[in-house]
Amino acid sequence: MLAVEKPRKKSYAFKMTTWKEYSKKLDKYGAAKDDRALVERAFYFAQQMHDGQKRHSGEPYINHPVNVSLKVASLGLDAKTIAAALLHDTVEESGMTIKNLEKKFGKEVAFLVSGVTKVDRIKYKGIERTVESIRRMFLAVAKDIRVVIIKLMDRLHNMETLDALPSEQKRLRIARESLDVYASIADRLGMWEIKAKLEDLAFQYVFPEEYKWLKAEVDKKVPERETYLKRVIPVVKKDLAREGLKPLEINARVKHNYSLWKKLSRYDMDWSRIYDLVALRIIVESVEDCYAVLGVIHKHWKPLPGRIKDYIALPKPNGYQSLHTTVFCIDGKMVEFQIRTQDMHREAEFGIAAHWAWEQAGKPASGTPAGAKASKLRHGKFAWVKQLQDWQKQFSKEQTDEEFLESLKIDFFKDRIFVLTPKGDVIDLPEGATPIDFAYHIHSEIGDHAVGAKVNGKMASFSQRLNSGDVVEILTQKSKKPSAEWLEFVKTSVAKSHVRKSVKKELSKTLPVKPKKIEIEITVKDRVGLLKDISAAFSEFRVNIEKVMASQSESNTQPAVNIIFTPKNEAQIEKIKTKLKKIKNVESVRVK
Ligand code: MN
Repeated sequence: MLAVEKPRKKSYAFKMTTWKEYSKKLDKYGAAKDDRALVERAFYFAQQMHDGQKRHSGEPYINHPVNVSLKVASLGLDAKTIAAALLHDTVEESGMTIKNLEKKFGKEVAFLVSGVTKVDRIKYKGIERTVESIRRMFLAVAKDIRVVIIKLMDRLHNMETLDALPSEQKRLRIARESLDVYASIADRLGMWEIKAKLEDLAFQYVFPEEYKWLKAEVDKKVPERETYLKRVIPVVKKDLAREGLKPLEINARVKHNYSLWKKLSRYDMDWSRIYDLVALRIIVESVEDCYAVLGVIHKHWKPLPGRIKDYIALPKPNGYQSLHTTVFCIDGKMVEFQIRTQDMHREAEFGIAAHWAWEQAGKPASGTPAGAKASKLRHGKFAWVKQLQDWQKQFSKEQTDEEFLESLKIDFFKDRIFVLTPKGDVIDLPEGATPIDFAYHIHSEIGDHAVGAKVNGKMASFSQRLNSGDVVEILTQKSKKPSAEWLEFVKTSVAKSHVRKSVKKELSKTLPVKPKKIEIEITVKDRVGLLKDISAAFSEFRVNIEKVMASQSESNTQPAVNIIFTPKNEAQIEKIKTKLKKIKNVESVRVK
């Protein structure tokens, strides 16, 4: 089976972070000090709420929200988001209510926590939906980029500590989800470092055999390459210095395992075609310097044709920028160089988070990584707005740019909402949908027999508009029938047609049928008193015989009696037929 059979218990530090240590870390990440009191209150409140709770590893539960919030802080997000990250599990794990959080920490913090809680309630398992629709739902339910960022950091920490989870099945499910949903969302938000971290952590659980093989290969190849590159770096530095170029940083970066494996899979597992297993990354001040550095490198070493990539002039579709080149370096060995500015480098790490912080503050908070970045950003907010726009365009063709710019919140899916069943399954409905639409989408039987609805645990009217993330429960009763009034508020055609059908059916049961003449043929062996018995049968049902004709049966030569009458309803015809068949010497009865 899987290579990762047993939880490999690490020796976790069971120490709890003190406020002093925590606050110091916030300083290090450049978190603004104005709202530190709010963060401090959230810190102690979370500690109190999770008191006595433990993680699977045995460490105090509070270590998790503390870690998540520090990750959030390191991305340069505001105090409210940091506070929300500290409180993100108090609803799900400790039974805190959003209302109470709102009283204690204000509307915005409560809104962020409620977003995280709603996303938590989505279950991916067993849903027959495309991964793409799950990603959409995730974003629609989260409603706000900051909620998405907290969830990404939450998942990152859970992946970092996944080996403590005792159930192999759960580990595999969470890892799979991290690859399919979380890593891909991080990618879309330009948070490539986060994406790569999630992928590398998930890799060993999802593809254990491949991971083992790759890891062994990498462990063999990388040190050799690194030793070699250590010889290259001083030579490059000297060459650049001679041209008056002083890079901010030159380092060897090892390709992430999962992306390496994907590349190898594309190249038939041919290692000789991988030039960037370990690449040299040169970080410089300006775009001009990027091109100047490239020139110097090409002057000294011959570039490999077709391997020069200008992702500065032509960024990758996900927004990635850098200059790449592969050259025949010392001893004729191939080396890939990646040249970029500090802005481009930070972009990879912070992605949208940096831009968000910039938007929130309205001005770059000096000293923060996000602020420093924002102040330098050449194209301002438009880079990420455009990125989101491109993405959003894939989903909704009708939405205009103007509409999109109206809000920085996630608002791509204006026309759709995603609501949850009590079990966490997702029902995708049009905006304005009501509990009745929801009921019919689950099953027509549930819609037809609905007597009441609960939204987020509270009784709700059938006509209430549902919102993304609402948990909806329908109460049913066998005897209950749909009401014609429902047609006034239901949104979906499925619900409409079911309600109409059912209402019509109910009406038909009570309305009298249109009077209609019927002729029946009774084949008989004639006897005395037969006709009298037949007319008695009709009078029993208070039905008048309008005409009697003696004839020969059409099917054979047997004598027959044809009777024309007007039944009061359909059911009566059958009843009369049965009665007639019981009369002596009557052979058959049929409606003509
Ligand atoms: Mn959590």
